[in-house]
Amino acid sequence: MTENRLSQALLAYIREVSSDQSFDANLANARPDSQASFEELLSAAVMGVDRIKTAYQEMLKVVRQPAIERLQLALDHFRGSDFGTLETKKAVARAVQTLLIDLELRVKCPTCGEPAYLRCSLAGNTRTGTFQFQHARKGRQTHHGGSKKFPELKLISVAKEQ
Ligand SMILES: [Zn+2]
Repeated sequence: MTENRLSQALLAYIREVSSDQSFDANLANARPDSQASFEELLSAAVMGVDRIKTAYQEMLKVVRQPAIERLQLALDHFRGSDFGTLETKKAVARAVQTLLIDLELRVKCPTCGEPAYLRCSLAGNTRTGTFQFQHARKGRQTHHGGSKKFPELKLISVAKEQ
């Protein structure tokens, strides 16, 4: 691909990814009839990609926060519930686990405050299972807490970009 054809491809790409007026104005120099250099076009393309990345991250933040708040409300609602059987409790713990992973969240361990996952297993002397907080501590998997009923869960964000 020659430099000129690459410039045209870049320009087409810029057009495709930038639909707002202000960005079009910024690209006035990159019109085919202008004398924009390859470097100018490349710089405009990079700027376009950066803008999309920023917009995407902003959008995720906007969508994520209400989702977290709704999940917290749902968890508060279930607090103290006895789901009866081990199978149901395990299913509830798995559902919570999936949501935590999807939303880059953990729950706060009530014993040590570490970010943890919720598990349900046959611990102690229960037949219907115990909810526990599982997390790594000093390189080992640790289980803290232990309640037959659905415990109070406080969500903690572990997302890299806040
Ligand atoms: Zn803990």
